Amino acid sequence: MSEKLLATKVDFKLNNGKLMPAFGLGTANPKERILETKEAVKTAVKAGYRMIDTAAFYGTEETIGEALQELFKEGVVKREELFITTKVWPNRWDEVEESLELSLKKLQLDYVDLLLQHWPLCFPRITNPKTGDLIGKPKDEKGKPVYEHEGNYLETYKQMERIYLNEHDHKVRSIGVCNYSIDYLENLFDDPTIRTVPSVNQVELNPQNPQVELVKFCQSRGILMTGYSPLGSSGAPILKLSLIKELSEKLDLTTNEVVHSYLISKGIVVIPRSLNGERIKSNIYYKKLSKEQIDLIDNIGKTDPYRHIDEDFAAPLPGFTGRTPTDAE
Ligand code: NDP
Repeated sequence: MSEKLLATKVDFKLNNGKLMPAFGLGTANPKERILETKEAVKTAVKAGYRMIDTAAFYGTEETIGEALQELFKEGVVKREELFITTKVWPNRWDEVEESLELSLKKLQLDYVDLLLQHWPLCFPRITNPKTGDLIGKPKDEKGKPVYEHEGNYLETYKQMERIYLNEHDHKVRSIGVCNYSIDYLENLFDDPTIRTVPSVNQVELNPQNPQVELVKFCQSRGILMTGYSPLGSSGAPILKLSLIKELSEKLDLTTNEVVHSYLISKGIVVIPRSLNGERIKSNIYYKKLSKEQIDLIDNIGKTDPYRHIDEDFAAPLPGFTGRTPTDAE
């Protein structure tokens, strides 16, 4: 049986030569629990995590910034030892610089290691008259998502690339995308004005949604995959699958660790979310799975693809298919 290794010690190489940890903490926490993110980040970094995944949209950047300042002051870790990812939301699709500046301010950082386009979509900028904030998911009077029809999702990537390639500006060390299907990546490659292949494509990846063709395509083009919702998001339904439970016993790993092992063994970065300190501290091991074990797990989602992230605004995106929690209702 293969050896138990620390997932927190594994790095993958990006297509620009930089290293990215294979395992990090997700922080898309429920609105009412956002402030708990600070303790979760501190617990994670003290347990050896070196990567934190956030986004302008999550509302967690400020609390992560406070956690990082305390960790630096306590001498637990230095900035350069950490890998911090944030993302640009589609309501700032043509205001990447502004989005980045706001994120850096909230995170209290001079640079992020990775800036991702959160969705290949463009939303109109509509302000909430009560709070003065931009509305994250604009809807029409019938409750249907609205889009900026003049918008072009590649414009966001172009603005990110400009910042990344600016030699006088080191605010972004790598750039990438999220939720891009093969079609959308082909469009990006076909655009003659774009010179930089994304370093990362972050999409939903778990045993029920292995997206085998997309992973193969990205890996053949030197794009590192990151798997979001590895546990199937809130309630962690993936951990209840009988094969995951069987493998947990057989491999002497927790069910969480079986999922990390599955993704890391496939060369995929994994960013599970938790606000439970015990879980954050204890689920940090992984084992290299055999090809047979990986194939068995892949088969769950190949046979019956199930997508846990079911955003109504994402419905028009190509490649965003599979049964969803809404179908099951
Ligand atoms: P995950 O798949 O990581 O699942 C998180 C949930 O699982 C939490 O509610 C957690 O609860 C629970 N959980 C963990 N372990 C257990 C356990 N042993 N038993 C019971 N419950 C458990 O969810 P996310 O959807 O948040 O995905 C991870 C990260 O990926 C996000 O936080 C975000 O950073 C990123 N993401 C990116 C997206 C994109 O569009 N780019 C979209 C979605 C996510 P508890 O806190 O109690 O441990």
